[in-house]
Amino acid sequence: MGNENHDMHILFFPFLANGHIIPCVDLARVFVSRGTKATIVTTPLNVPLISRTIGKANINIRTIKFPSPEETGLPEGCENSESALAPDKFIKFMKSTLLLRMPLEHLLAEEHPDCVVADMFFPWATDSAAKFNIPRIVFHGLGFFPLCVLACTRQYKPQDKVSSYTEPFVVPNLPGEITLTKMQLPQLPQHDKVFSQLLEESNESEVKSYGVIANSFYELEPVYADHYRNELGRRAWHLGPVSLCKRDNEEKALRGREAAIDEHECLKWLQNKEPNSVVYVCFGSMTTFPDAQLREIAMGLEASGQPFIWVVKKGSKSEGEKLEWLPEGFEEKVEGKGLIIRGWAPQVMILDHEAVGGFVTHCGWNSALEGVCAGLPMVTWPMYGEQFYNAKFLSDIVKIGVGVGVQTWIGMMGGEPVKKDAIEMAVKRIMVGEEAEEMRKRAKELGQKAKRAVEEGGSSYNCFTSLIKDLRSRGH
Ligand code: UDP
Repeated sequence: MGNENHDMHILFFPFLANGHIIPCVDLARVFVSRGTKATIVTTPLNVPLISRTIGKANINIRTIKFPSPEETGLPEGCENSESALAPDKFIKFMKSTLLLRMPLEHLLAEEHPDCVVADMFFPWATDSAAKFNIPRIVFHGLGFFPLCVLACTRQYKPQDKVSSYTEPFVVPNLPGEITLTKMQLPQLPQHDKVFSQLLEESNESEVKSYGVIANSFYELEPVYADHYRNELGRRAWHLGPVSLCKRDNEEKALRGREAAIDEHECLKWLQNKEPNSVVYVCFGSMTTFPDAQLREIAMGLEASGQPFIWVVKKGSKSEGEKLEWLPEGFEEKVEGKGLIIRGWAPQVMILDHEAVGGFVTHCGWNSALEGVCAGLPMVTWPMYGEQFYNAKFLSDIVKIGVGVGVQTWIGMMGGEPVKKDAIEMAVKRIMVGEEAEEMRKRAKELGQKAKRAVEEGGSSYNCFTSLIKDLRSRGH
């Protein structure tokens, strides 16, 4: 590991959501592994999550105060989007983050880093950094494909030219004839002026800033990496997959919230299973399904006949809450065959275990990329954000995904339940038979390429070198 960059100090400012914080901390780890100094800025209640994810790496944390309930209209202690999922709270939460501007500027004056890597949802950070002549880089935590789709739908607005929510349109100026419907695009509340302006500015900040860091590697999506840079004219560096900064199980288990299962217990459960036999089912850090959907998932998993690990963000073992939403007698029937984790799972550790052979995912970019790194075929079950684009990428571009059949952006609470039969069928398609084997082979090849990309001389490693060179040349 080099220390040639010890004179460089990078300040990271992730959006206050688990799916943004985790890859940003991993990114900071990538920087320190190449010798730079790194500081992460956050609010007090997010510190435990960040410290755990930092693990043994040498990264500083600086805190700034989250605005008070009087200023925000939010309840006390609401400093992470996971406690602001209801639509009215979410808008207030987004608006509250505008008040972090002054504290960040005070901190910039004190720290005077060489570069600020700030989340897309802090568009104002570009002007804040400029006050101190510091370059600002945007980090969305996304790969090039979703970045390209976002840029093209924003620029050409094909969704405004269709007559209904279900009429397909091809995304203009994007290689690969990508077809979407308006139903699959983010449905965001536009009625609030401050909120819609924030989104507008966040879109523009990609162009106004010094550049963009993508959580991807060139070999995964060369066409879209080139398109984003050459056709859409963005300056971008791919430094991922950032989750590969963690190598051993102990480190992998320390990621995000405290896990609801002991890491050793989990590994012991996996050790008794055949290679590639277990399907891992998790819908990211925020999804809470209604009971009716949970029951369909339970029945679909049982019917698939595969051993499974299923992460459910509802209740907790320690609260002693009963699993009454499960079908009658379910736990007895799947005893030894199914493991339900209620709360936070050590996802990367589980995905990387040789017993795991498939992943049912909501297609958050982090999860999708972690599935790629682990070499797994995936059932795609997109719900919100840019997840429909990521699902398309997995099934149509790299061909390692099978859709469960959802067609509509439904937000984080779930909509019309996906039925047991669809779940059973999709799980079988990624786990057994010729199609599954072919997908697994493709996924494994991509997983190996991912690992090579971050090693010395790999594409992401080299891209890091050129980013530092760019930053240095700017300073002279
Ligand atoms: N994650 C985890 N355990 C969980 C749920 C999520 O470790 O029980 C991690 C997962 O590995 C990923 C991140 O949280 O790195 C979730 O990000 P993603 O983009 O997949 O989804 P989001 O939560 O932002 O919708």
